[in-house]
Amino acid sequence: MENHLSLAESSEDSLLTPLAGAPEESLDPADWTAFSAFAHAALDDALDFMRTQRERPVWRPVPAAVKAELRAPVPRSAQPAAAMYDEFKRCVLPYPTGNGHPRFWGWVMGNGTPDAVVAELLAAAMNPHVAGYDQSAALVEQQVLGWLAELLGFPAGSSGVLVGGGTEANLLGLCVARNTRAGFDVRSAGLQGGDQPELVVYASTETHYWVEKSCEVLGLGRRALRRLPCDAAFRIEVSALRAAIQADRQRGARPLCVVGTAGTVNTGATDSLEALAALCREEGIWFHIDGAFGALAALSPALRPSVRGLELADSLAFDLHKWGYLPYGVGCTLIRDAATHRQAFAGGASYIKPLARGIMPEPFVFADRGIELSRSFRALKIWMALKLHGAAKWGRLIEQNVRQARYLAARIERERELELVAPVPLNIVCFRVRSQGGDDRQRDALNEEVLLQIQESGVAVASSTRLGSGFALRVAITNHRSRRADFDLFVDTVLEIAARVRRENAGP
Ligand SMILES: *Cc1c(COP(=O)(O)O)cnc(C)c1O
Repeated sequence: MENHLSLAESSEDSLLTPLAGAPEESLDPADWTAFSAFAHAALDDALDFMRTQRERPVWRPVPAAVKAELRAPVPRSAQPAAAMYDEFKRCVLPYPTGNGHPRFWGWVMGNGTPDAVVAELLAAAMNPHVAGYDQSAALVEQQVLGWLAELLGFPAGSSGVLVGGGTEANLLGLCVARNTRAGFDVRSAGLQGGDQPELVVYASTETHYWVEKSCEVLGLGRRALRRLPCDAAFRIEVSALRAAIQADRQRGARPLCVVGTAGTVNTGATDSLEALAALCREEGIWFHIDGAFGALAALSPALRPSVRGLELADSLAFDLHKWGYLPYGVGCTLIRDAATHRQAFAGGASYIKPLARGIMPEPFVFADRGIELSRSFRALKIWMALKLHGAAKWGRLIEQNVRQARYLAARIERERELELVAPVPLNIVCFRVRSQGGDDRQRDALNEEVLLQIQESGVAVASSTRLGSGFALRVAITNHRSRRADFDLFVDTVLEIAARVRRENAGP
């Protein structure tokens, strides 16, 4: 019989030539004892780095020489470990974003924790493939998802999945919404049929820009997105939403999903989630909540009322790497109706068919709940953190951050040179240096210069946004290391820089 399975086209294939006596290799160390000494030293350096963050500038620019060194060509053969590690300590370790520092309050970033360093180390050592399988990592993820659902008021039996971050978590929620409420089989038909109804997603002008990205990625296009106006407290206007839904229905479009936000990125506002949930129920529209950081306010009994209605969502997305203080990247999607979640993503192929026994007795639980097939052990750092600290500690730290935001806001209100430019319902403070006679453009330029000098000073990192009234400095506190005195130092430095910039602008 002719052999169709012959491995090589030609007997000269070098891969088949036996290398008599050649050693076989692996990536494990030749000397585990020496490697262990290196690894322990690296762990000590990692912990020292975390312990001493307060002593360093919050941020510093990467010097040109370091940038050049980091453009060196690919190492084709081994370099000595000592040289590699020396380069890491010179070029990499000293130039982080700075978000571990007690005075980093730009955008919305978490700090990371020492215990999560240990969790990441152990997760990397185990390196499980968490698509599913009969293994501990899948059970840990299942347990963590159950804990998170319970803490946020989602019913037992709801579904969920850990993902890389809030953008992906929100995308998955919107994808389940699309597949569940489109009214036709989106998974097989796609969105290219000419006779399909136009699908509409409703959000507010304050909804984070993940919503545009997701509408694009999901093939809905940005034209599917209605951004509705907000009230003075930056919450979606429910009456405008109701009117938009009616208008879309009248012209034959199909309202798909309303996106509410618990904790907007600009100001920390929370939409009237109960009103949105009621409207969605009446209208048969999917209700998705982006609670990227705000959802975790529910862990504080005192703050829970400010995000009430969270538990009414069909899908809820949030991050653990912001107000859960864990290192990147871990976010979570919870889906109330587990069947809709599975129906949105479940798939199969001959090579992933479950067998009667063994390591894969059932379909991939987690690969069937999202986009990733090969998945890392994100759950371990949440599992360890909750066991080591308890959920109540997260709640207390979140409350501490909200108290710090109010402390900062009160200090700003006392300073004649400064003004708040938005309410402070949660942990975000938007403010600016007041103008002294100049026009809006000069005021914005002054504030931008003050912000840049603050960042460059290494004293603190805040970021910026534009609210209706112009350029604002923005402080978002999701930082378990900040202390009240840090905010006083920040305000003192802002005032000092503002005075100096004004003097310089006034000329000699
Ligand atoms: C940060 C944020 C997101 C995006 O989350 P990533 O984890 O950065 O992808 C979405 N919505 C809000 C309100 C956010 O603050």
